[in-house]
Amino acid sequence: MKAICVFPKQKKVQLMEVESPNIQTSTQVKLKILEVGICGTDKEICAFQYGIPPNGSDYLILGHESLGEVVEVGSQVTQFKPGDLVVTMVRRPCSDPECQACRAGRQDFCFTGQFQERGIKQQHGFMTEWIVDEEKYMNKVPASLRPIAVLTEPLTIAEKAIEEIQRIQQRFPWTTSMKRPLRAVVLGAGPVGLLGAMVLIHSGFETYVYSREAVEGHRAKLIQSIGGKFISALNAALPDLVKQVGGIDLVYEATGASKISFELIPFLGVNSTFVFTGVPGRKGPILVDTDLLMRDLVLKNQLIFGTVNAGKESYQSAIAHLEIFYKKWPEALPALITGKFSPEQYENLLLKNPGGIKNLITFSN
Ligand SMILES: [Zn+2]
Ligand SMILES: [Zn+2]
Repeated sequence: MKAICVFPKQKKVQLMEVESPNIQTSTQVKLKILEVGICGTDKEICAFQYGIPPNGSDYLILGHESLGEVVEVGSQVTQFKPGDLVVTMVRRPCSDPECQACRAGRQDFCFTGQFQERGIKQQHGFMTEWIVDEEKYMNKVPASLRPIAVLTEPLTIAEKAIEEIQRIQQRFPWTTSMKRPLRAVVLGAGPVGLLGAMVLIHSGFETYVYSREAVEGHRAKLIQSIGGKFISALNAALPDLVKQVGGIDLVYEATGASKISFELIPFLGVNSTFVFTGVPGRKGPILVDTDLLMRDLVLKNQLIFGTVNAGKESYQSAIAHLEIFYKKWPEALPALITGKFSPEQYENLLLKNPGGIKNLITFSN
């Protein structure tokens, strides 16, 4: 079968023939891969910044944002049958008996760092024609979501973040009787930012997306069409952003840009939360007024946290949200998918910058 493979030692990326996997245990499921989304992580792996092949292999099959169709199930598989659409989870638990997170099935909180990730760390990914995995890592998707279900994995990032934010909000006894909607700023209008904005808007936040695109651009229109407000960094510096928003209750960072993020922190409101989802490349230290930051954190009851990956619950809520969003925003949601390409076009997609919001590689038609 065809697979898009990264050779970190030889520093090369290529489409090649590899052996297709077979079901090995009674609890496994075999999928035909339909579509795989491409994201910044894939490009960073193709730039050899990270990405670790499985033990004994000199290459890693790329891809972690997938949609597949069941073609075969093991004898003890109960939840899936051939024809079902499936989104497979990315992270696999470490083997340390002391890792409470992994032992509780929450490898997204793994303590040891010895977890594995399909398409990223020590397990082959989904940019190929067939995959096999354990039933417990798979999530069934309704057939009606076929055109957009590949957005499930990037949406889980927002789902986990917002589940945590909602728990944090519960520290306030008045959360159920708010006098005004909470105001959220989304930093960045990439797929994680736009999907995050959808969850925030749907959850009742007054949502502002701040990004470098122009106000008359495609992304700005998309945000306005779902009831969000777009503020362009081209016309509004941070103080202007803050003035337009009023008080900021929440920042959902989805840029991977640390400088703009830390510059925004001094503008956070009282009792506010700042969540980081991006992983910046290392570009050298920047100056931050740590006294101001610490004073504000304390005197304004602020909370800053980071979140990575997602658990089963977040996959389930992402799929449930996609069903709602698809009905509520039948044009805006599919508009996040800006291009579909064949595996042969991998070089343009992974090694160059073809633009667009979410580009897909299509493996089966
Ligand atoms: Zn991704
Ligand atoms: Zn662990």
